[in-house]
Amino acid sequence: MSQIANIPDKGEKMRVVILGGGFAGMKLIQKLDRTKYQVVLIDKRNNYQFQPLLYQVATSGIEPSSISFPFRKIFQKQQGLYYRMCKAISVDRSRNTLITSIGEVEYDYLVIAIGCDTNYYGNTKLCCNTLTLKSTGEALNIRNAILQNMENAMNTADDELRRELLNFVVVGGGPTGVEMAGAIAEMKKFVFPKDYPQLDQSEIMIYLINGMDRVLSTFDASLSAKTEGHLKNLGVQVINNLFVTDYDGSTIMLSDKSTLKTKNVIWVAGVAPNHIKGLSDESMLKNGRILTDDYNQVKGEQHIFALGDIAFVENGKDNEQVAQVAMQQAANLAHNLNNGLTDKRAFIYNNKGSMATIGRNAAIAEIGKYKFSGFMAWFIWCFIHLRSIFGLKNKLTVFIDWVWSYITYDQSLRIISKPIKECEEEEKEPTDI
Ligand SMILES: Cc1cc2nc3c(=O)[nH]c(=O)nc-3n(C[C@H](O)[C@H](O)[C@H](O)COP(=O)(O)OP(=O)(O)OC[C@H]3O[C@@H](n4cnc5c(N)ncnc54)[C@H](O)[C@@H]3O)c2cc1C
Repeated sequence: MSQIANIPDKGEKMRVVILGGGFAGMKLIQKLDRTKYQVVLIDKRNNYQFQPLLYQVATSGIEPSSISFPFRKIFQKQQGLYYRMCKAISVDRSRNTLITSIGEVEYDYLVIAIGCDTNYYGNTKLCCNTLTLKSTGEALNIRNAILQNMENAMNTADDELRRELLNFVVVGGGPTGVEMAGAIAEMKKFVFPKDYPQLDQSEIMIYLINGMDRVLSTFDASLSAKTEGHLKNLGVQVINNLFVTDYDGSTIMLSDKSTLKTKNVIWVAGVAPNHIKGLSDESMLKNGRILTDDYNQVKGEQHIFALGDIAFVENGKDNEQVAQVAMQQAANLAHNLNNGLTDKRAFIYNNKGSMATIGRNAAIAEIGKYKFSGFMAWFIWCFIHLRSIFGLKNKLTVFIDWVWSYITYDQSLRIISKPIKECEEEEKEPTDI
């Protein structure tokens, strides 16, 4: 018989199992009526991550702990809520049971909110050799790589190797790619000349490679043009209409067969939905997302819902994979579940607008019919992101980091943080027996 996960009995209540504690899962937890439901959160990580600011961790702008929040700390004083750190493997729909790495979890309702991971489009070499940005751990990897390669560039007398180390390539012209390239360019402008004065700064090159004909292709074309102009002013070489087809850790191959030598490739060129086994063919779309009706109920299922990046609402006008969609779907589902699924409310997305930041004093915003850029957009971007961060202490920490780097033009967290383990066997003196 399979093992049952160690979770207290639900008693008289119904049990809602939430799979994934990201934007959707956390909003649902916040809104569900726990006098009616016992809530069980399953997540393979032990913390909720605020992904929009990961790029700032990667470029030493803010501390990882300011945007990663341990579930156990968030839930400390909460009743009727159980969190288990484990990986969900499959759903047994016939028994209303979720199979996880710690055993089986029965549910009355299952809510799947497992989000997305990086998409390498099936290229394992890209997966092995590039840096990505989907979690705090990956952001720290980028931070380590940037700083380590700057140190290696200082240490080498080999001109070709030095140029390779100083070439920074960001792949993907969406908001994350633009933010990442802009932030590295600001390090080049404000930080590297002070930290590495002996380096010839003109050797540091930043490329943004984008498969579309313009960056930020989901925004209005005028904003894309402004963004490209600003990136160019910052010294970023924007290459449109080309795909990266291969990277062996040293040479990038582009779709026009040209090549570029670099030790730093940051891959933010797309996302692919995470996968859970056991759902019906009817509900699994070819692109890996889960098909739902207007109430986020999985097609053909009575007890399973899907939210956020993983969900595709069949009649949805807007199925964008963004935080606002995830949170609004969760709030709507909480409303329906709290009403016992009677008199259900269909999900209608209230698009509050889109923003992306390009660097200091520069961002773009598209809010309804209003499109603007520059300092005002950047200020609103800062305000909205600060407001969305969990906890007063974290808001304050990020705010202080931002103000400090704004005034001093200097990020404060340039630490290479990885273990240096030297396990060589010590030469032992022969012993007489
Ligand atoms: C770098 C970056 C920047 C972004 N910037 C913005 C932005 O500025 N604005 C915006 O609106 N959106 C932004 N997004 C997109 C936004 O983060 C997503 O749309 C949002 O996170 C989706 O929420 P979700 O709840 O569906 O999934 P997520 O927030 O990704 O949460 C999924 C959760 O499921 C867990 N999980 C996955 N698989 C399993 C499993 N098998 N078992 C157990 N647990 C599992 C994960 O650990 C994770 O905690 C950004 C994304 C990234 C990566």
